[in-house]
Amino acid sequence: MKPFADPVWSEGIKPFRPAPPRPDPGRTYDLLVIGAGFQGLSAALHAARQGASVLVLEAGALGTHASGLNGGQVIPGLKYDPEWLMTHFGDRQGKKLVRFAAGTADAVFDLIDRENLAVPHRRSGWIQACHTEKALDAARNRHRQWAAAGADVALLDQAGISSAIGTNNYIGGFLDRRAGTINPLAFQFELARLSVEAGALILENHQCDSLRRANSLWHARTDKGADFSARRVLVATNAYSETLIPGLNQSIVALHSFQIATAPLSGAGADAILPGGQAVSDSRRILVYYRKTEQNRLILGGRGPMRLSRSPRDWAHLERALHRLFPMLKGKPIEKRWFGRVCVTPDHLPHIHEPEPGLMTMVGCQGRGVGLMTAAGPRLADYLLHGDPDVLPLPISPIQPIPFHPFRRIGVGAVISWYRLHDALEK
Ligand SMILES: Cc1cc2nc3c(=O)[nH]c(=O)nc-3n(C[C@H](O)[C@H](O)[C@H](O)COP(=O)(O)OP(=O)(O)OC[C@H]3O[C@@H](n4cnc5c(N)ncnc54)[C@H](O)[C@@H]3O)c2cc1C
Repeated sequence: MKPFADPVWSEGIKPFRPAPPRPDPGRTYDLLVIGAGFQGLSAALHAARQGASVLVLEAGALGTHASGLNGGQVIPGLKYDPEWLMTHFGDRQGKKLVRFAAGTADAVFDLIDRENLAVPHRRSGWIQACHTEKALDAARNRHRQWAAAGADVALLDQAGISSAIGTNNYIGGFLDRRAGTINPLAFQFELARLSVEAGALILENHQCDSLRRANSLWHARTDKGADFSARRVLVATNAYSETLIPGLNQSIVALHSFQIATAPLSGAGADAILPGGQAVSDSRRILVYYRKTEQNRLILGGRGPMRLSRSPRDWAHLERALHRLFPMLKGKPIEKRWFGRVCVTPDHLPHIHEPEPGLMTMVGCQGRGVGLMTAAGPRLADYLLHGDPDVLPLPISPIQPIPFHPFRRIGVGAVISWYRLHDALEK
């Protein structure tokens, strides 16, 4: 039985299906990319445009993993703000990382504009909505730091946030106008189309089952028994990483993020919800995030069970959150429900690893991978092709498996229940 999932993003967009490349067994590619999400495709596009021969192996069909399933919120920055990054990484690396983090949303919107991509999008900002004084203090601090760095950000008071979102649930918030929303599936298809037009080959439904190095070349074998050779490899499998790179899967926690979409909204009550079209993240510990789509559906996402879901009941907590925020939507049908994997690291930072020469991976978007991975892909490709570590946004680090990793599902479940209780008590 397949897990229950019915995503919303194929509405009104044209799919791109790369024609399967003709097998060329004797060929050695300059770059083999494993995984056709935003990371893999933006790396493939960049490398192919430099004239490198590029093969992308994708285990599924385009659109069926995180890059085609996410909330489409394009948010710059990392979990940490500039001052923390400067202290943690030191002056030179810190400045480089702050500059990179500040520009991750630009990477998406500039590409859409420059290439005139068929991607429904709106650059109307992101609101971090605060429900307690403590959360508002954190938002003030974030605002101060990004404003000092010259970012287009603002603080919202209670009246401002109520009219921006159309709910009285919050006492204020942080507005980041660098951010916006996209249809992520359309963006993934367009990245794939550009990559193919630039000369990259994309092979869907080919899972890479093994990687080995011999005579300074990498040799990959797929579940279909096909063999490929390449000088360099980018393993862009992120939350879906399994055993290709020893220890990688044990160094991350892959959480499930669940989403629901209402039927298209209409009428005055509906117009009052997010009239400016911003994306929102709620400051509660168990994050919920929401936005409207082109079709005027309201999409709301948040954490869900760690097991695969088989029934709409697994999304009931999101319906409760939706109705708490927007009581006028009670009775409005929920027409779509779906989920995917988000990659979290113990230190809440993305990690770049090079376990062997010519083999790279980047994991850990903490739910901000739309901008982050689109911006990082070209840098990973540049490093692999030209070898200059200065192009990387973060230092290369060793893979560090999390102790007691096999028990993480029980642990994550317990932490989520505890935070849900805490949020409920704070209300
Ligand atoms: C429900 C949900 C909502 C989210 N909302 C947001 C949001 O609003 N904003 C935001 O910024 N981020 C969001 N995220 C996170 C974001 O989607 C990811 O961080 C981002 O898409 C990661 O891109 P990626 O290319 O690194 O990985 P992925 O898109 O996960 O791509 C990895 C690919 O590797 C392939 N693969 C794995 N193993 C193999 C193998 N052995 N051989 C071949 N292929 C393989 C997989 O099939 C997959 O296609 C969300 C994620 C989910 C799941």
